[in-house]
Amino acid sequence: GVFGGTFDPPHVGHLVTAVNVRHALALDRVILMVANVPWQKVGQREITPAADRLAMVAAAVADVDQLEVGDHEIRAGGESYTADTLARLAAEHPDALLHTIVGDDAAAGIHTWERVDEVLSLSRMVVVDRPGDKVVLDESVDWIRVEVPRLDVSSTDLRARCRDGRPLDYLVTDAVLDVIRERGLYGIGVTA
Ligand code: ATP
Ligand code: MG
Repeated sequence: GVFGGTFDPPHVGHLVTAVNVRHALALDRVILMVANVPWQKVGQREITPAADRLAMVAAAVADVDQLEVGDHEIRAGGESYTADTLARLAAEHPDALLHTIVGDDAAAGIHTWERVDEVLSLSRMVVVDRPGDKVVLDESVDWIRVEVPRLDVSSTDLRARCRDGRPLDYLVTDAVLDVIRERGLYGIGVTA
């Protein structure tokens, strides 16, 4: 399973999705693939440096069997396209049955993805619920909906919380909160 995102920051919605999709489809593992340059978000807001986002995701999955952090897109550099990432994974693991995991909001925009035809031919799409409309993909697409606990949590809300001084506890793991504090991300410093 390949679960791509900006993860700015990674939160319980991402983790609950990853473990439940892995379980539901009996996937060997789910890789939380950290986008290097999330080209669709560039210019809309400031993006936290990729190395910091990678450190947060690594902390989030460190103790979770079968969840992994993916640094392929960061190592590749430049703008991140799922089509390229899947091609790289398919070359690394020729026998793997790849799944691309997306929330409803991401699935709704799939036609805007770079070379979406390659994404669809290299992997099966897995769509999970997010607040908003339930997406129905074209019947020509190999896709499946997996029900996961619906958590109305977003990185956007978490960044707003940081700005306002509201708590992040229980919305991100303690390990992620430690990385945020250690690195002084989102304007949160180490408090004495
Ligand atoms: P932002 O608010 O900055 O867009 P986000 O919370 O949407 O952040 P992303 O990194 O943009 O997180 O999302 C990566 C993937 O995770 C997308 O496929 C998105 O649909 C999915 N996702 C994000 N939050 C949830 C959630 N609470 N439940 C299920 N899927 C989610
Ligand atoms: Mg998003």
